[in-house]
Amino acid sequence: MTPSSADTAASHEASVNQEWLQRYANTVMNTFGTPGRVLVRGQGAHVWDADGAEYIDLLAGIAVNCLGHAHPAIVAAVTEQISTLGHISNFFTSPAQVRLAEELDGLAFPAAGPGVSKAFLANSGTEANEAAFKIARLHGGAGRPRILALENAFHGRTMGALALTHKEAYRSPFEPLPGGVEFIPAGDVEALRTVLGPDVAALIVEPIQGEAGVQELPAGYLEAARELTSAAGALLMIDEVQTGMGRTGAWMAHHALAPDVTPDVVTLAKGLGGGVPIGATIATGRAAELLGPGQHGTTFGGNPVAAAAALAVIDTIREQGLLQRVSTLGDRWAAALGALEGVTEVRGRGLLRGIGLIDGVGPASQVADDLARRGFIVNAPRPDTLRLAPPFVLSDADADAFTTTLTEVLISRLRDGSS
Ligand SMILES: *Cc1c(COP(=O)(O)O)cnc(C)c1O
Repeated sequence: MTPSSADTAASHEASVNQEWLQRYANTVMNTFGTPGRVLVRGQGAHVWDADGAEYIDLLAGIAVNCLGHAHPAIVAAVTEQISTLGHISNFFTSPAQVRLAEELDGLAFPAAGPGVSKAFLANSGTEANEAAFKIARLHGGAGRPRILALENAFHGRTMGALALTHKEAYRSPFEPLPGGVEFIPAGDVEALRTVLGPDVAALIVEPIQGEAGVQELPAGYLEAARELTSAAGALLMIDEVQTGMGRTGAWMAHHALAPDVTPDVVTLAKGLGGGVPIGATIATGRAAELLGPGQHGTTFGGNPVAAAAALAVIDTIREQGLLQRVSTLGDRWAAALGALEGVTEVRGRGLLRGIGLIDGVGPASQVADDLARRGFIVNAPRPDTLRLAPPFVLSDADADAFTTTLTEVLISRLRDGSS
């Protein structure tokens, strides 16, 4: 069960992987650059490439495969649902869709008791945020055209969600974007206080900014944001697309960061379907009633197969006590990683971690490449940061194997003067 040695993985790169990558380059749009590997199979926290090299998957499809690959509960639920009723459109509903909406109510808004929220089901994170954007517009009407987002925020790539995303390189080729969005420094209560007014419809935040390198909002910010938005009559919308569904050891990251804060809107996607595409916008109070017939829609959203996968994810996390597992493993692992030479700090919570690297080890993307050659999949959301977002079923042995290999990689890069 150990991943291939560096030699084996490297020697594989020239063959079947290369052939598929050439065909990919010929036919698939170049939106993602050249993929690192061609993967053909996964089991638990392990994946195999087209040449048979094995990897420990510490990225899980970017915080998606929370139960790992080919989890029997998801396989069974999807198989059962698609062989019973696969797709129906939103002219109809299904027990799976209704049960999922009921579950999401309890998961996103546990403190308020059952039945306080309503869900809109979509297919991705960006779509979950598109629905949130429309809710903000409906809440705002003509008198509240402004929407606030945080610097370094990532909320998705479709035009509405892109308007909420901060990175200039993602935005500028596609302007004009939907208007009214303003960015304020993340975690700065005074900045928020200054810009909030009766013309603001909503504030959207990630509790931990994942794409920005796993940066958690400072203590007290969400509480202040709730107080200030409520006083101004604006909605507080929390994007839990990456941080939700147990990733940080709580069902929602904001439950752990700010237990007393009840947002108006929560968005989910990534981990929700355990690998099956699904997104959800869950709203409470007035925000839950704003979207009416004809105002929003999706052909696939609420699809019974995707809903069945999400129900299996929720049941499995509960039955196997995985929230506790995420916290325990995450804390122990972060402490070990934080002590390594070449590491400045380990940010984040549970199994969403950013490993800060000193300059001397070179760009994080090169460290990630070294790790891939030695059989570990991670990514580099920033030039000085590696991100870990592994399956919750990662074993202690696999986590420790990564710590050992990262130690070796960093020491060898420091010795060779990689910067
Ligand atoms: C990934 C992500 C999104 C976008 O989700 P997609 O499914 O890629 O559209 C939105 N918000 C956050 C915080 C994310 O991490």
